[in-house]
Amino acid sequence: MARKTVRSRRDLRERARRIRLLLLDVDGVLTDGRIIYGSAGLEVLAFHVRDGLALKSAQAAGITVGLLSGRKSEALARRAEELRLVEVHTGVEDKGGVYRQLLARYRLGDPEVAYMGDDLPDLPLLQRAGLAITVADAPVEVRRVAHLVTSLPGGRGAVREAVEWLLKSQGVWDRVCADFQSNRNS
Ligand SMILES: [Mg+2]
Repeated sequence: MARKTVRSRRDLRERARRIRLLLLDVDGVLTDGRIIYGSAGLEVLAFHVRDGLALKSAQAAGITVGLLSGRKSEALARRAEELRLVEVHTGVEDKGGVYRQLLARYRLGDPEVAYMGDDLPDLPLLQRAGLAITVADAPVEVRRVAHLVTSLPGGRGAVREAVEWLLKSQGVWDRVCADFQSNRNS
């Protein structure tokens, strides 16, 4: 039993080391899944600030970050701009199609892609990507296919947890922290 755990942990780290592209679903991953509607078409989404820092850090470490959302949202567009994300795909009806385009654009194969999603429409990409990540509060059908299930729920630092683990597995997390320390000291 213990040996099996060690082996699967090693397999997980092997998967993490190959990742060059991190694609994320938005609702339920970067948010807690709630969409608050105000008057005059106002839509409110809550993003976790530590998730944002994680995505910036992943990009600084050379991982391309992309968002794939089935909905269009001004709040999301603003957050993506703040984080300087290059690949922001919203209102996507066919996530599989966008996924294939991105792999072709960056000349990557499935083993080099991590996908993080939280619900049933994410299953095809979770089953295809080299590293499938989901959140603690995802339905069991999704948690069952994921290689990594975060201990935190969507919108509450789950992305930070996943990215921190990914960068640690790639051996670059210490460098990310050191960059912050040197910036503070300068
Ligand atoms: Mg979702």
